[in-house]
Amino acid sequence: MTDPREELGAIAREARTMLERERVRGRERVTFDADSAKASEVPPRPPGIAPAAALVLPGFETLVPQSLPTFGPPPSQLLATRDDLPDDLGTLARMVSECRKCGLCETRTNTVFADGSARARLVFIGEAPGRDEDLKGLPFVGRAGQLLDKMITAIDLKREEVYICNVLKCRPPENRTPAPDEVEQCLPYLEQQLALLKPALLCALGLSAVQALLKTKASMTSLRGRTFEYKGIPLIPTYHPAALLRNPGLKREAWEDLQRVRDTLRARTAS
Ligand code: SF4
Repeated sequence: MTDPREELGAIAREARTMLERERVRGRERVTFDADSAKASEVPPRPPGIAPAAALVLPGFETLVPQSLPTFGPPPSQLLATRDDLPDDLGTLARMVSECRKCGLCETRTNTVFADGSARARLVFIGEAPGRDEDLKGLPFVGRAGQLLDKMITAIDLKREEVYICNVLKCRPPENRTPAPDEVEQCLPYLEQQLALLKPALLCALGLSAVQALLKTKASMTSLRGRTFEYKGIPLIPTYHPAALLRNPGLKREAWEDLQRVRDTLRARTAS
C-alpha cells in the first residue's frame, strides 16, 4: 500500500512543477502560498477570478492565483480631472488662450481650443491647428474640416453633436509635425478636456495624434482597423482628413474605421 506521506509529497512536487511551468509562461504573479495554506481553508477568491482558477490540494498545500490580470487599466491610470487645471471647459479655454508654455505661442494667431458639444459622447482629436484654424480659432474649418463634416454626417451625426479638438492648441509653423516637448507641454489641456467631457469614445485623426495619445511609434498601417484604450476610454485611430484629400485611395479604409466608430459608439451608448 502506498505511504500517504509519499503520495502527498508527490502531489507537492507536481504542484511545484505546475507553478514553475506557469512562471516560465510569464504568469509571474501566480504565487505559491504554502505558508498560509491550511487543510480546510480555501482563501477568499479575488474579485473577477472564476472558482476553477483556485486550485486546492486537499490536506496539503494551496495554489492560489492571488492576482490574475483584470480587464481595463487600474483606477490610477483612468482619466481623472487634474487639480492644477480649471474644472470647467470655459475657464480652461481662457487659460489656454493665454498659455505660453511652449514656443508655439510666439507664432500663433489664435489658440484653437475646441468646437462642438460639451455633452458629446464622441470626440475627434486631430494633431494641431492648420492655417485656417489658426486664423479663425476653431478646429477643422478648412478643406480638411469640410471633409471631416462629411465623415461625421456619414455616421449619422452632426458636427454640433460631437466634440472636435487637437492635441496641440497652437499651430506649428508651416504645419510641421509637433515636437515631442510641445506635445508634452500641451497634452494636459487635452487630458483635462476629456476628463471633463467624459466621452464614450475617442477617434484619433492622423498618425501624429494617435502616436501622441497612445505613446507609440507604430505606423498607421499597424494601428488602424483596431480599437485601443486611452485611460479607460476606447480609442479608434483613422486617417487625418487632410491625408484623405491628398490620397483619396485611403477613403475606403477610412470608411471602415468610421463604421467601427459608429458601431462602437452605438454599442456604448445603447441603454
Ligand atoms: S501649443 Fe499648447 S503648450 Fe504650447 S503655447 Fe500653445 S497652448 Fe501652450
